[in-house]
Amino acid sequence: MISKCLSVNEQGNLTIGGADTVQLARKYGTPLIVYDEETIRNNCRMFRTSIEKHCSSGGLALYASKAFSCREIYRIINQEGLGADVVSGGELYTALSAGFPAEKIFFHGNNKTEAELQFALKNNVGRIVVDNLEELKLLNNIAKELVRTAKILLRIKPGIDAHTHEFIKTGQIDSKFGFALETGEAFTAVNTAAGFSNLELTGLHCHIGSQIFDIEPFCLAAKVMTSFIAEIKQKLGLVISELNLGGGYGIKYLGSDNPKEYPEFIECVAKTVEASCGELSIDVPKLFFEPGRSIVGPAAITLYTAGSVKTIPGIRTYVSVDGGMTDNPRYALYKSPYEIVVANKADKPRDFVATIAGKCCESGDLLQENAPIQNPEPGDIIAVLATGAYNYSMASNYNRIPRPAVVMVNCGEDRLIIKRETYEDLVRNDI
Ligand SMILES: *Cc1c(COP(=O)(O)O)cnc(C)c1O
Repeated sequence: MISKCLSVNEQGNLTIGGADTVQLARKYGTPLIVYDEETIRNNCRMFRTSIEKHCSSGGLALYASKAFSCREIYRIINQEGLGADVVSGGELYTALSAGFPAEKIFFHGNNKTEAELQFALKNNVGRIVVDNLEELKLLNNIAKELVRTAKILLRIKPGIDAHTHEFIKTGQIDSKFGFALETGEAFTAVNTAAGFSNLELTGLHCHIGSQIFDIEPFCLAAKVMTSFIAEIKQKLGLVISELNLGGGYGIKYLGSDNPKEYPEFIECVAKTVEASCGELSIDVPKLFFEPGRSIVGPAAITLYTAGSVKTIPGIRTYVSVDGGMTDNPRYALYKSPYEIVVANKADKPRDFVATIAGKCCESGDLLQENAPIQNPEPGDIIAVLATGAYNYSMASNYNRIPRPAVVMVNCGEDRLIIKRETYEDLVRNDI
């Protein structure tokens, strides 16, 4: 199984965190998203302990909560001692309403509204990661009105494209996020920020991509950013004491995926920063990391009930389930791979090839094409694995399909953490 929390019990049913998935489907109905709490907590601890071990000037992992945002996840993340990154007023509101400490929240986004910035400052959010010059001015004005100083990081495009074969060091200017380094835009932004009286520039931020398996591009980004910190010190006499290197650590979606252990990333990046700082004669900054997918992705599965099984002779077999792109749009959006298991036949070989279709009026509404699964029949419980990140958080009500329920399992015990939406929920805002 691709995640340690998954197994098969004596009945031949798939289990997650010691709980029988067929029983969970019966108890809560389907579609159902099930998280294993231990996996989430272990992932948090892996980041936390390796940061404590390797970052000589201190550091903190900030859970990138866009991967999965709800009150319970913020409570767990907080208990594990991590900070959080949020990218909207809505995520910020959710975190605060769960009692998440504001000073450990970093607020991201390429187009934060005035209302969002006011909301963040009034609630004493720890850092605001500023994306552009307009925002810099706007934030300074808002901070002035509220008679306070906003601690900020600047989002930098380090010019490393981690999704190419050779992690090329240029050509990432075409991104909607942040200030480009190679055009001098980033330097201008630093200079401008330094001149604003109600802003305190504490650090720099970059995020080079997502689902990255190699350590190299992270180390390359760390080097580029450290050099920039040295340049700022040399030319402007400014000390940048915080470096946030974003997230993007890859997870196992398929049995063939082989991501590095996260502590290896942290160790390598921390050592790279330290060595560069030594060479450049600057102090080692406090390091921040923003894992999202790697905290929650492998911790969950989605359970569906199979309806029709339709074989088109010589072409393919469609297995239609009671959810689809409304609870997991990632295949429709990116052709993302997933492993699929018939949960009530998990002890049988996956010797059938099927296309798993959702129930939306949209032929692109597929969860996977030509996936190896156990022989499917109507009424089977279909489990899609590693759906903990960017599934529920990307869910929609297309076709007025209610969002599924979310359950947390811990050592065989289950509890509801997000209720299933009702038809009444769907019309709540309709006039
Ligand atoms: C999306 C994002 C992350 C998290 O990325 P993962 O691939 O989920 O680890 C972290 N930081 C920023 C700024 C992001 O946009």
